[in-house]
Amino acid sequence: MSHEVIRSTVVPIIYLVSTVFFIFGIKQLAKVKTARRGNTLAAVGMLFAIVGSLLELGVIDYRWIGGGMLVGTIIGAAFAIRVQMTAMPEMVALFNGFGGLASALVAGSVFWERVVEQSATGRIHQVLGTDSAITVMLSILIGGITFTGSIVALLKLQGNLKKGQPILLPARHFITLGLLAGSFVIGGFAVAALAADSVVLVLVLSGAALLLGILLTIPIGGADMPVVVSLLNSYSGVAASMAGFVIGNPLLIIAGAMVGAAGLILTQIMCVAMNRSLLNVLVGGFGVAEGTGGGSDEYTNVTSCGPEEAAMILENAESVIIIPGYGLAVAQAQHAVRELADLLKARGTKVTYAIHPVAGRMPGHMNVLLAEADVPYEDLLEMDVVNPEFKNTDVVIILGANDVVNPVANKDPKSPIAGMPILNAYEARSVFVVKRSLSAGYAGIKNELFEYDNTMMIFGDAKKVIQDLIAEVKDL
Ligand code: NDP
Repeated sequence: MSHEVIRSTVVPIIYLVSTVFFIFGIKQLAKVKTARRGNTLAAVGMLFAIVGSLLELGVIDYRWIGGGMLVGTIIGAAFAIRVQMTAMPEMVALFNGFGGLASALVAGSVFWERVVEQSATGRIHQVLGTDSAITVMLSILIGGITFTGSIVALLKLQGNLKKGQPILLPARHFITLGLLAGSFVIGGFAVAALAADSVVLVLVLSGAALLLGILLTIPIGGADMPVVVSLLNSYSGVAASMAGFVIGNPLLIIAGAMVGAAGLILTQIMCVAMNRSLLNVLVGGFGVAEGTGGGSDEYTNVTSCGPEEAAMILENAESVIIIPGYGLAVAQAQHAVRELADLLKARGTKVTYAIHPVAGRMPGHMNVLLAEADVPYEDLLEMDVVNPEFKNTDVVIILGANDVVNPVANKDPKSPIAGMPILNAYEARSVFVVKRSLSAGYAGIKNELFEYDNTMMIFGDAKKVIQDLIAEVKDL
């Protein structure tokens, strides 16, 4: 079969098969139960995509491809083996960033090959074609923003950049909007420029894109980070889609568009979860300019108890709601918590889990964590379902959660989490908060729930405390 026949008949079929795998893969990722299968399907889709692309290109030098794959595999495997489960959100941010960088590099390489290397004459839109010229510039712009934006998000998630708090530059809105508008103008000039003049413009555009990524992400902080992470995920998809237009690869256009759309839907879900408009988040610095909110960080009137006392209260409880948070992931206490729930259920207690959409450090973090311990999916209740239940609940056990149960969100309009819907744990008859100290959660603010009369703190590592609780409940 000639290469031309393969390109025109076999390759489109392979791309179609790959697209079907991607679509079903993404669909199955939507549910915890089927997510693993979804991941495998999408990976198989990617294999088809690679095979299709290689067949489409025909005779190429496999040494570069093999070398690139080897280096990529070593770096990827090293990251994947070493990464802690709690650092997965940072890893996702890094992936988004690399996705953006890869798209910008693809566009840059097309520009280099067809304009610089071939010493092209004439205007860029004539050399590349108007569509390609525009998408090269957009790819560099969006890819660059995604790259540096994701690196800043990574540093914020690690708490390395001002402990994840917003960084508010003076006149930041004017600077950012000016730079964004300027980037479009430079990109426009680059499309219309003579080949000889375009290199400088493309370099300036790249620099502006990298700076924009930083400026757009530094003012966002505290509890609003989930929105940014999902938005950057969407950007990485759009950048890939643009790169697909640049190299005329329909599969990359489709796959990029799917990631872009999925990221946008997730962004919308996160905005609803935080009760924020997207603009509100992008402008950033919510609650910070006006004051930190949450009052003094000092705690008075905190009651604490040990597992033995808690077990005695649990003995008489008919209903228990467990609220997992980031600390549960840190402690890797998911298996222990399931064991405790099973024990209580066996004693006739009704046990459910309340899942806040932004609990943990990535969308769906708690669902994934609890699924790992085979917690029955039907026991996980979403916020709007579980909130009316708290006032009729005997005991709430909060495991390493903090911001998502902080009543200040409903009370103090100056708080960084003002307006964020919370899990109304305080309405239960008894509330146990399991954490190591009185220190703040990700938003960096005091939690007045710890001072409520019906709250008792159990200080310690979540896994250790639950194991002690299990031992006490067994002794009852
Ligand atoms: P928080 O970050 O508010 O609080 C976690 C608590 O866990 C801390 O107060 C810490 O207290 C405790 N903790 C840490 N390690 C342990 C341990 N080993 N054992 C027991 N407790 C421990 O978590 P939430 O889940 O309540 O809220 C998530 C926050 O993260 C929100 O502000 C959200 O906006 C933000 N965020 C969420 C993202 C997402 O996509 N879900 C992404 C980025 C940010 P102590 O040190 O005293 O033990």
